[in-house]
Amino acid sequence: MFSERENSRKRLMELLDKPGNSHCADCSATAPEWASYTLGVFVCHSCSGLHRNIAHISKVKSLLLDPWTTAQLELMDSVGNHAAKATYEQTVPAFYFRPTHKDCALLREQWIRAKYERKEFMLGGRQESYSVGYREGFLWKRGKDNGQYLSRKFVLCEQEGVLKYFNKHDGREPKAIMSIATLNATFQPVKIGTAHGLQISYLKDENPRNLFVYHEDGKEMVDWFNAIRAARLSYLRVAFPGAPEADLLPKLTRDYVKQGFMEKTGPKHTEGFKKRWFCMDERRLMYFKDPLDAYARGQVFIGSQENGYDVLPGLPPGVHSSRWQYGITVATPDRTYLFACESEKERTGWIAAFHTFIGCPMLPQEYAVEARFKHQLDY
Ligand code: ZN
Repeated sequence: MFSERENSRKRLMELLDKPGNSHCADCSATAPEWASYTLGVFVCHSCSGLHRNIAHISKVKSLLLDPWTTAQLELMDSVGNHAAKATYEQTVPAFYFRPTHKDCALLREQWIRAKYERKEFMLGGRQESYSVGYREGFLWKRGKDNGQYLSRKFVLCEQEGVLKYFNKHDGREPKAIMSIATLNATFQPVKIGTAHGLQISYLKDENPRNLFVYHEDGKEMVDWFNAIRAARLSYLRVAFPGAPEADLLPKLTRDYVKQGFMEKTGPKHTEGFKKRWFCMDERRLMYFKDPLDAYARGQVFIGSQENGYDVLPGLPPGVHSSRWQYGITVATPDRTYLFACESEKERTGWIAAFHTFIGCPMLPQEYAVEARFKHQLDY
């Protein structure tokens, strides 16, 4: 005879085999070990913690460790991840960022709140502010010089194709006008040092510019992020008429391929190695003195092997970095770049990042970017 506990565990394991239940309902992580017995969804351990924040709507239990009643098992059977998705994700806008288990807790928490607490994506729900093509409000913005965060008014206007911010509250003259055409936004909680930290970047005359902002309210910050994505989608639809939406969606916002400290030499390789913060943004390798700098010190275009780009571990004979010993040599048609990493693991990671692009043929528009880089000086 099976005990009641063993029976309920057996039933739960059978339910996990049903379509949709093998992955977390909220972040798609494999093999969920928790479930919300009020919503009827199977979730991963990490998302179960976020469901505890909406305990008035969702109550979670461990599949393995907690006792389950027959009524709770029936609910899990009658709902499940497939049916819950059909209910709670009916009207998710195409541009809306659906986080995975790799994304930061803020994005996952707000996704869970939007779905189950605010019911933003249920049929008949109201149109959310991030969908309307215009947004204004105050964000804390990191000062360029002293690193202090000051309240600044931001205005996103899809019709004008820009994001602006103002130093003075009554300000007529924006302090910066950022074109939606080159705008990117990425949550960088570790780098910025706050869970709600968003990095906004754009290009000014092909030079990267960074802004670091946050809002105390997590919903407000994620709404800004999705408003930027909505504006980007509108822009891309006009810029690439007829392009399938599936091709445009990955271009709305992007994370860095890799970032971290390396040392680099100057063009003559005799100036000594200097420690810099590097960000690999698609084929653009940028470097900064400080991770939170507004301006890049320089940037390197990473083309493809057939166009004369290559990456090798190690440094040329006779060249040594004084501190970090894990060298990388990157050859470009114009110049050879020498880098040094702190650990073998870091070096392996960077070489893999370079290979992603060097091993991949360049797209027509990337030739144009490469040509614009050639007009730039390394400073
Ligand atoms: Zn999850």
